[in-house]
Amino acid sequence: MQELAQLSSSALSERYQQSLLGVFGAPQRVLVRGAGCHVWDADGNQYLDLLGGIAVNTLGHANPLLTSVITSQLATLGHVSNFFTSPSQIALAEKLLEISAAPAGSKVFFANSGTEANEAALKLTRRNAGTEAAPRTRVIALEHAFHGRTLGALSLTYKEKYRAPFAPLPQNVTWIPAGDIDALRNAVDETVSAVFIEPIQGEAGVKMLSTEYLQAAREITREAGALLVFDEVQTGMGRTGSFFASAPVIPDVMTLAKGLGGGFPIGAMIVFGEENTKWLTPGDHGTTFGGNPVACAAGLAVIHTIESQNLLEKVRENGTWLREQLCSIAGVSEVRGAGMLTAFELAEANAQKLVAAALDAGFIVNATDEKTIRLAPPLVITQEQLGSFLAALPQLIAAA
Ligand SMILES: *Cc1c(COP(=O)(O)O)cnc(C)c1O
Repeated sequence: MQELAQLSSSALSERYQQSLLGVFGAPQRVLVRGAGCHVWDADGNQYLDLLGGIAVNTLGHANPLLTSVITSQLATLGHVSNFFTSPSQIALAEKLLEISAAPAGSKVFFANSGTEANEAALKLTRRNAGTEAAPRTRVIALEHAFHGRTLGALSLTYKEKYRAPFAPLPQNVTWIPAGDIDALRNAVDETVSAVFIEPIQGEAGVKMLSTEYLQAAREITREAGALLVFDEVQTGMGRTGSFFASAPVIPDVMTLAKGLGGGFPIGAMIVFGEENTKWLTPGDHGTTFGGNPVACAAGLAVIHTIESQNLLEKVRENGTWLREQLCSIAGVSEVRGAGMLTAFELAEANAQKLVAAALDAGFIVNATDEKTIRLAPPLVITQEQLGSFLAALPQLIAAA
């Protein structure tokens, strides 16, 4: 490690490509340090992080409270296995039930990532199997959905390119157009065990679904005896200006990850209502690391900071302001989002070039397709910092 710290970015990139499996392509930069909403690369260049590790770094980089909570939990009790529990695990479960307005009898399962939370949800919903005479063998998901890369979650993911090389996948899934209530009503019948929905489709380019649609999904699934799963892996934990983008609609199951640990890996599944906790009983599912005391302490510190610093209000205000400003920039053709999850479309299909130009100018942003740029900065980002990107954007668009 010490020896690597002396190397240049390009030398480190070379070493990366010799030792890491090439599933991510070449790294854009080698990053060595972060503080607040900034990170620095191995050559000393500074970047404003408008992606936040893909909606993960809720409190920015090297947040002092998060750092001290993680450090002191690690120094007290780092890992115990699920033969045991710890106060931080219980406290985080209770806190998640509180902020999600879960009815009495609701329960939490901890995992380590978004895809694992969705695997747990898929296993749970497969227990809603119907009868031998009338089995529920199908799952409904939305066109352009992204639910993760492990085989179960991958079966729910829309992109053919991600799925096709790994067929056959374990779940029979039908994708329907997002936001179309009639399509949902037609698709959900007594052969369906569950419907999986992202309240805002993040990887698809921040495609919004209305509360009316989520409410309709709640009613349609209840009538048909199918379970409703909201994947809030990207939208949860304050990202959209409320703790959960789907509030006040309550699903049967909600999955969380990304922002929950503020950068420390953790995922969670919230199972709403006592009647749904029966689907998974002792021995049905498990994990070695899930619910680890350090990860749970991180989650508690994130929620505590969101509450004590009134971050939800700040996120709503800054998000509305950011999107208003984006709308008035020439070359931006459409702006979508909620809170600190925003996408804008470019009139010209050159999003990858804009990402590269932005990086050279000291801004980290992300392209979800050839026309769309996504911003998911730390919730603590200031209007001034957002403003510095807005000021640079016309030139970046011109350069791209
Ligand atoms: C990122 C994401 C996942 C997968 O999470 P990982 O932690 O990468 O496994 C699942 N669902 C949604 C909506 C996501 O944005």
